[in-house]
Amino acid sequence: MIVASIAEPTPARVRDRIEEARRQGADAAEVRADALTTPDLTEILAGRTLPLIVTARPSWEGGRWTRSEDERIAVLREAARGGAEYVDVEFKAYKDFDRGRASLIVSWHDFKGTPPNLDVIARKMASLEPAILKIAARADGAADLARLVELQKRLPRPGAVVAMGDFGEPLRVLYRRYGGVLTYASVGEPTASGQLSVAELAQTYDVKSIDDATEVYAVMGDPVAHSKSPWVFNRAFRELGLNARMVRVRLDDVGRFREVWAALELKGASVTIPHKELILERLDDVDDTARKIGAVNTVVAREGRLWGTNTDAPAALESIRGAVARRGGRGVRGLRALVLGAGGAARAIAWALKEEGAHVIVANRTGERARVLAEAIGGETLQWERLAGARASIIVNATSVGMNADVSPYPKESWRAEAVAFDVVYTPRETRFLREAREAGAEVASGVEMFLGQAGRQLRHFVGRDLPDGLVEELRARL
Ligand code: NAP
Repeated sequence: MIVASIAEPTPARVRDRIEEARRQGADAAEVRADALTTPDLTEILAGRTLPLIVTARPSWEGGRWTRSEDERIAVLREAARGGAEYVDVEFKAYKDFDRGRASLIVSWHDFKGTPPNLDVIARKMASLEPAILKIAARADGAADLARLVELQKRLPRPGAVVAMGDFGEPLRVLYRRYGGVLTYASVGEPTASGQLSVAELAQTYDVKSIDDATEVYAVMGDPVAHSKSPWVFNRAFRELGLNARMVRVRLDDVGRFREVWAALELKGASVTIPHKELILERLDDVDDTARKIGAVNTVVAREGRLWGTNTDAPAALESIRGAVARRGGRGVRGLRALVLGAGGAARAIAWALKEEGAHVIVANRTGERARVLAEAIGGETLQWERLAGARASIIVNATSVGMNADVSPYPKESWRAEAVAFDVVYTPRETRFLREAREAGAEVASGVEMFLGQAGRQLRHFVGRDLPDGLVEELRARL
């Protein structure tokens, strides 16, 4: 169940939040009595529109309760007698009391990290035979996430392992996949770090229909918080009627890749910055294209082996070819193509253009990286400071310049009407690079098309299906 965690100072505000959570798709609400100015729950219990979990989190367990322990237990007892469905009692200060018909949640929190002895703690907590056993620990890296997911799988009683912090997001979404009974979510301000909103869990992830057969995919990178891939893939899975989800996995250390893969029982992953190059060495098999490019953006589990490919290259090439064709051209063979950048995207695009017979020139802020890339593909280099003098009919921005900022890496006065401009950046849809190219009369191709093209190819590798046409049109309009 999705539990909206509510920490508000007055009963009226708590009741409003409970109702808001119900409308957004929550199944229950956790009321933090320690956040109430006066810890009287009568009005809240009488007017509730969702089943309630009542807790009074003490300051030594990360909460705001500073009155006495006796008063704290009295509040929980009164809540249980007043009809609360659950009371949450901290294991570290567990006291038995008359809980009426309320079910017991025994909880344990660590806001600083993921300690090594959680199995022992879980077993001790289980001896109290609670209805729900809750362990919440801060995940400080992908390795902690993997450990907490494994703990969830082998909890000795029905329960919830909460991985706090943004490394923990996959478990907050996929709790049911690994045997968890509930996840906490926010309405308004999150009450714990890394908490997602009720609306996101209920709508984007549709978590209540996740079960132990749900196929799990991930977008892995660092940073990864703003990736649009989960939104795109989850819509596609839903429209195709597939029991599958994609989650964001913040992978801080590529060395933990296989550990995280195993814990989450992944079927496939979309790999993003900064891991596209280093991931290659962690795989069992890599196709020829990805091997030659030196970068993998798609990983699939095939008969127990991890196989990698690169869908950036064909997707970018398709966009560029389309723009050339709109200008009456027939492919890129023989054309001079200037590629700005020498990172993962630039490598894929420069390699693809070269394979198609274009004459590739690489320019990069860090000249040495341009030299290495040009040498690898058999192209030329141009100094970053000399872009204004470049002669090329295809100009590609494969840097991150222009992402969420109105700047262009290419001099405005250098655009010519005969040129074809392609930008890998897709936020915003029309970058300054593309706007200035279009204003000069050049043909433009946006990074949105490449994004859709590479995502479509990934979907085919993941589940053997195409992005539904209607969804492509909607994404084209909304991305
Ligand atoms: P990356 O490996 O980190 O490479 C970044 C590139 O941008 C490097 O060449 C870097 O130059 C250059 N750069 C960064 N800041 C710069 C600045 N202020 N001035 C000049 N050059 C600068 O990243 P990536 O994976 O290649 O991704 C690059 C962009 O492509 C990102 O915005 C990403 O979102 C986008 N992308 C889009 C798609 C799509 O489907 N549309 C697919 C993949 C990537 P230095 O070497 O000098 O640092």
